[in-house]
Amino acid sequence: MNAALQGASSEVSASAERLKITEIFLSLQGEARHAGWPTVFVRLTGCPLRCQYCDTAYAFHGGEWWSIDDILAEVAKHGVRHVCVTGGEPLSQKRCIGLLQRLCDAGYEVSLETSGAIDISEVDPRVSRVLDIKTPGSAEVHRNLWSNLPLLTPHDQVKFVLCSREDYDWAKAIVAEHRLAGTCEVLFSPSFAQVTPRELADWIVADHLPVRFQMQLHKLLWNDERGR
Ligand code: SF4
Repeated sequence: MNAALQGASSEVSASAERLKITEIFLSLQGEARHAGWPTVFVRLTGCPLRCQYCDTAYAFHGGEWWSIDDILAEVAKHGVRHVCVTGGEPLSQKRCIGLLQRLCDAGYEVSLETSGAIDISEVDPRVSRVLDIKTPGSAEVHRNLWSNLPLLTPHDQVKFVLCSREDYDWAKAIVAEHRLAGTCEVLFSPSFAQVTPRELADWIVADHLPVRFQMQLHKLLWNDERGR
């Protein structure tokens, strides 16, 4: 291959490895099983959903192209074991699958926060998938990809963000219908300013529900400041 062609081909393979990134930062994991651990967050740009309570709308657009090698180098600078790939909806970029694999190969404890609207079957099994199930109150219930649920394992978690008592009753029925509590950890969270933490805690206790109540630690600690 002549030098010009070689250059062009390595440029193509480098660009094939790139993802659009909104931010990479170190914080405490605020949610789910790894709550409280120092964690590097890799926030990918873009999301096809528009949940009414979304607190990361700044990740819908913009961002910068990063190679997977550069992402790994940036993550390594922080020197922690936990990495969370989030968004936006990270799986809306197909190359996210390769990034997850590379992070696992590098020895990190990797979690993925996904909307539940995109197929998770190709995600590396070493990744702990935190899959949202969108409630009617989210305004995106029609986006749930129900074929994802049989793919869940005890290594994964499902999360419901609840906007009302109606959402809670709906989520309770979904947990029972799909036997989710016997499959993986089930997380119930109050939607900020729509359901109080106390209300949700009382409902769960009254119903002896086999789910885990959770509040978003980073909202309590830093009031959702960007990059924290
Ligand atoms: S899926 Fe997540 S990032 Fe996308 S709109 Fe809903 S809350 Fe926001």
